Amino acid sequence: MKNNHKIIAANWKMNGSEELMNEFSKFMLAKHNEIIICPPFTLLDSAKTLLPSFIKIGAQNCSEEDKGPFTGEISASMLQEKSVSHVLIGHSERRTLFKETDDVIFKKTKAAIKSKLTPIVCIGETLSEKKANKTLQVLDCQIDGSLAKINPHEQVIVAYEPVWAIGTGLTPDENEIKETHLHIKTKLGQHFNADIPVLYGGSANAKNCSQIISIDNVGGLLVGGASLTKHEFIAICNC
Ligand code: PEP
Repeated sequence: MKNNHKIIAANWKMNGSEELMNEFSKFMLAKHNEIIICPPFTLLDSAKTLLPSFIKIGAQNCSEEDKGPFTGEISASMLQEKSVSHVLIGHSERRTLFKETDDVIFKKTKAAIKSKLTPIVCIGETLSEKKANKTLQVLDCQIDGSLAKINPHEQVIVAYEPVWAIGTGLTPDENEIKETHLHIKTKLGQHFNADIPVLYGGSANAKNCSQIISIDNVGGLLVGGASLTKHEFIAICNC
C-alpha cells in the first residue's frame, strides 16, 4: 500500500533572517504534506512565534553532550525547550567541514532521541564513491555506524543525500533513486520496528519535486537552496 503522506524538510543552512521568516509566515498554508523548517539556531524563536503551528521546527545540529564545558555547542535538551521537534544530524557539510564521524552521528542521534526530538540522519555517497560503484556499500556503512545501535523501537527519519547532488543542480536519475531508496528502506526495515521514512535530498526544486517524490520508497524531500525562495518552497510543499 502506498503512503501518500510525505515529509518536506527545509534546511536553511547558515542563511535567512527574521525578515525572511516573516515573509514565509504569511504564505504558508496547511498542506497534506508534513512540513519541517530548519532555520539557524538564532531564528528558532522567531520560527516559533511567526510560523503557523502546523509547521514543525527543526534544528540543523545538536551536541552529543547534554551540558557542560563545550563552548559554542547547543544540546538536544536546550533545543527541546525551544519547541524544536526535529534535528538534522550528520549532514554532509557537518561530516566534511566539521569532521563528524558515524560514531559522533550515532551519539548525536542518541542524544536527540533522549530529548524526544526526531533525528533526521543524513547519509550519502561522494562522487568518487559513486564512480567507484561503492554507493550501496557506503550507505550500509553509514547506517551501520550511526543507526545500528539505536533501539529498534525508536522513530527516526533518514535523508538520502548524494553529496555530489547537494547544491550542484545535479540529481540522480529515477532508477538510481529507486534503487538506493529500496536498499536503504530494506536495510532499515531489518533493524527498526517502525516504518522509517527515507527522504531524498540534493538539488530538489519546484520543477523536479513531483517526479522525485512519486518514486517508490521516497518518503519526502530535504530541500536546501530552493527552501530559501518563498515561491519555490511553496510549490515544493504543494507537490
Ligand atoms: C542540503 O544541503 O541538505 C540540500 C539538499 O541542499 P540543496 O537542496 O541545495 O542541494
